[in-house]
Amino acid sequence: MFLKELTVSVSNIKGLGPAKIKPLANMGIYNVAQLLGRCPRDWEDRSRIVPLRDFEKGKVCTLVTVRHCEWLRLGKVGKMGKAETLKVYIDDGETKASLVCFNRPFLEKQLLPGCRYYLYGSFSYKYGELQSSSFEFESAPASQAALSRPAAKPAAESGGAEKNFFRILPIYPLSAGLTQNYMRSLMRNTLRQYAAPLENELPDSIIKRDGLLSKADALNALHFPNDIEQLELAKKTCIYEELFYLEIIVGKRALERKGASGGKAPAKVAAAASRVGEGNFTPLQRRLIERLPFKLTAGQESALADINRDMDSPYPMARLLQGDVGSGKTLVSFLAALKAIDYGAQAAIMAPTELLAHQHTENAARLLEPLGVHVGFLTGNIKTAGRNQLLKSLAAGNIDLVLGTHALFSKNVVYNKLSLVVIDEQHRFGVTQRQAILAKGERCDLLMMSATPIPRTLALTVFGDMDVSVISSMPPGRKPIETHLARQSNEKKVYDFVRRELAQGRQAYFVYPLIEAGENDGELPLRSLKDAESMAERLAKEVFPDTPLALIHSKIAEDKKRQIMESFRAGGIKILVATSVVEVGVDVPNATCMVIEHAERFGLSALHQLRGRVGRGSFQSFCFLVYSDELTEDGKQRLKVMLENRDGFVIAEEDLRLRGPGQIVGTEQSGYLKLGIADPVRDAACLSRARTDAFAILASDPALNLSENAVIASVLKRAPPFSDAGL
Ligand code: ADP
Ligand code: MG
Repeated sequence: MFLKELTVSVSNIKGLGPAKIKPLANMGIYNVAQLLGRCPRDWEDRSRIVPLRDFEKGKVCTLVTVRHCEWLRLGKVGKMGKAETLKVYIDDGETKASLVCFNRPFLEKQLLPGCRYYLYGSFSYKYGELQSSSFEFESAPASQAALSRPAAKPAAESGGAEKNFFRILPIYPLSAGLTQNYMRSLMRNTLRQYAAPLENELPDSIIKRDGLLSKADALNALHFPNDIEQLELAKKTCIYEELFYLEIIVGKRALERKGASGGKAPAKVAAAASRVGEGNFTPLQRRLIERLPFKLTAGQESALADINRDMDSPYPMARLLQGDVGSGKTLVSFLAALKAIDYGAQAAIMAPTELLAHQHTENAARLLEPLGVHVGFLTGNIKTAGRNQLLKSLAAGNIDLVLGTHALFSKNVVYNKLSLVVIDEQHRFGVTQRQAILAKGERCDLLMMSATPIPRTLALTVFGDMDVSVISSMPPGRKPIETHLARQSNEKKVYDFVRRELAQGRQAYFVYPLIEAGENDGELPLRSLKDAESMAERLAKEVFPDTPLALIHSKIAEDKKRQIMESFRAGGIKILVATSVVEVGVDVPNATCMVIEHAERFGLSALHQLRGRVGRGSFQSFCFLVYSDELTEDGKQRLKVMLENRDGFVIAEEDLRLRGPGQIVGTEQSGYLKLGIADPVRDAACLSRARTDAFAILASDPALNLSENAVIASVLKRAPPFSDAGL
């Protein structure tokens, strides 16, 4: 039995009360495998004594004696009369301290003078004495020997009542209705009931080579380690296992694409073979390039050469095109589409927002229709009549290039001969969608484009089966964007600066973290936060009267949004007040000012994207990062990264380092990398080891037929990892 095969409902766990089923379900835990797979988010080391005198080193963990108690009157005394707070005086034999029991008057009956307790809590000096108001305790035997009890008593020996002291305790993510103690005892019961018979998922040779734990031992030790070394080994085992299977899947995907499972559709191979001069421009490509008012950059040319070569090869292309904001990826994707069209096939370009899809469509119409290419536009919002017409043309092959949102790949959309799919701003989509998209054509070529560069460390993981082209040069004549940090209390200076730019005919963006006042992101009451709606009003009335200004955000209807963007692009509207809807892709070369207020609330990659909305023409452009007056040290650090770096890759790596991969804009929501315990950045060394191992195994035994690899084949078959992450 593999862990993932423990699909029995949690209701089978001994001692699980029916009332707990719902709170567990709220955390996505329905069965035993899901429960055991839930890694503690942290561990509390209560295996060692930390006396009161060491309170500054972390949480105190020691044996104390209660000396006496008293009742304090703090603040107002209510009608109920019980507005008194219990204060308990303790010492650990050498240091005195007190416990302030806010709202816990009942502790009077539990913390008895003269008795001894194990105590765990954080202490600090207040009013001249060592105090804690956040602590846990358990009664201890009266004997003096108690403290020298051997640390890390194995869980099995401690009998029924599980003590929370002298051990390393797991800390779990919780939902309403669950407590740490409940989760701990539930985990203990579940491990006792189910862990022992679990099969290893890693090949024995690797377990032996690296001295890893068996699956059952690893799980037991991950939740209830005897000591820190054991915990580290359990983590190492679980992290390696997870990354190993990630790379096995990535490696298999690469094999499938290039391997024996067959090449492109035969018709396409024939068409490709008949072309003279492999990798050269096709006629349509040449005609577009001739019509352009500028030359392709070196980066665009080499990316296009890669793409042309891929499209001529018998294997489907799977290429990731990375290029910083403004490097001209759209044009490259149009040129790729032209190659497909030259072969008599269809191409589809998918963008993450209607706004962007529409902008691409306009560009495509402007650049490609004169070449005789039929361009279509499809989003979820296209009205039925037009939609049916469009779907008919697509199915009949009367449309060569269709642009749109993910609606392009909904069930009722049928293509005639789809052979190229381009995904713009791919980080906005989950990998899940990749399969659905490719299923629309017969062994389609796939081009993914990303401006929020996937940090190199992550690129190795999910995209490890793709080829990568990088456009590292910018179109000539671009002046680097000047970035400035400004305190919110200095906003007037920023506004004055923007006014001067507007006077010279330029345009500006103002970006805010919220759409409307009082919106809450679930963390803090956001009273002091500026929102786009109120600021649009204020900017229009007080700051830039007589300047045409519009508000744009995700709650505005698509038609209206489009109208606004058109007018902004045409220069009718001078100021666009927005949320991060302008984050991706929007291209208005005359806009030279990007003002981001509450910049500290945006991720670095988002800031980089936003900044990339300006500096797209030949004018000097400016980005103002306006931050709140009470910015934390951390926040300052992050904004400094923006000031000092222009390279999206560097910024993405910094973002990853400062916030962890789950936080990278878009990655978590899109689910492109749902790992459990592993973190590809922190565990980069383990990742590359796992990758080397996985690829070596696949290279020598692609079908996993050898007996030593049988376990891998069984895991993939019986308990496929990552299947719910869409990998
Ligand atoms: P991104 O890579 O961020 O998607 P875009 O494709 O939106 O960038 O291109 C940014 C701008 O640069 C567009 O206005 C585009 O017309 C222009 N552009 C693209 N290629 C070149 C080039 N080789 N020379 C000059 N301008 C170019
Ligand atoms: Mg783009």
